[in-house]
Amino acid sequence: MKVIAAVKRVVDYNVNVRVKADQSGVDIGNVKMSMNPFDEIAVEAAVRLKEQGAASEVVAVTCGVTQAQETLRTALAIGADRGVLVQTDTALQPLAVAKLLRAVVAREQPALVILGKQAIDDDACQTGQMLAALLGWPQATQASAIHIEDGRARVTREVDGGLEVVDLALPAVVTADLRLNEPRYVTLPNIMKAKKKPLDVTTPQDLGVDPASRLETLRVESPAARAPGIKVADVAALVDKLKHEAKVI
Ligand code: AMP
Repeated sequence: MKVIAAVKRVVDYNVNVRVKADQSGVDIGNVKMSMNPFDEIAVEAAVRLKEQGAASEVVAVTCGVTQAQETLRTALAIGADRGVLVQTDTALQPLAVAKLLRAVVAREQPALVILGKQAIDDDACQTGQMLAALLGWPQATQASAIHIEDGRARVTREVDGGLEVVDLALPAVVTADLRLNEPRYVTLPNIMKAKKKPLDVTTPQDLGVDPASRLETLRVESPAARAPGIKVADVAALVDKLKHEAKVI
């Protein structure tokens, strides 16, 4: 059983992002980029399926700029067998990524595609769902456990107020939630090994997909600045401030 893990290169979660002066977007020049954290979990899940003998090959796929190869190398260092970069400088939205992934799926014929539940840059939380719809495959989003048996996937999902277990016929699409696993620490020997693993580069044109955006971003703004909090000496001082400064009581 072949598994595809979809990985996105995003601004590292530790970076304090800034809006560009012309308000056209977030400034990603000279900031640290990393694999989307939920995608690390997706790759880890795929690699564990291989280690358990449920999967035979793990292919990491990313769509984006040339530098996204670094993200694929991280996936290979976690344990993916090979990588596929769909190289484009076009800013991609979830529908375009879903169409590109569908084309990669047509080539690769995996039994399972695991994605992150959302990318932390645009927080769209759409790509997995759109991919499943385009493929006409069953889907289980926000997975906290995946069990493969007899051509089916039993997936535990984190839903409001508890857990839901769904049983899917393969091939299927699953998106990974935070508690699915804790991705392994990537070791130096594995980083070195990853450099030798195969990495194919293709393009949206090769895949017959037009990745052009269908949405226009009008303006991106930073959240309004807030005054810093203060410590008050006692309850009387708090009540006084609430009455006379905040004027809420
Ligand atoms: P989103 O719908 O943008 O929140 O992304 C959900 C998931 O789709 C991510 O966690 C990735 O697994 C996958 N994904 C999104 N964008 C890309 C991309 N450019 N290349 C590969 N996978 C992606």
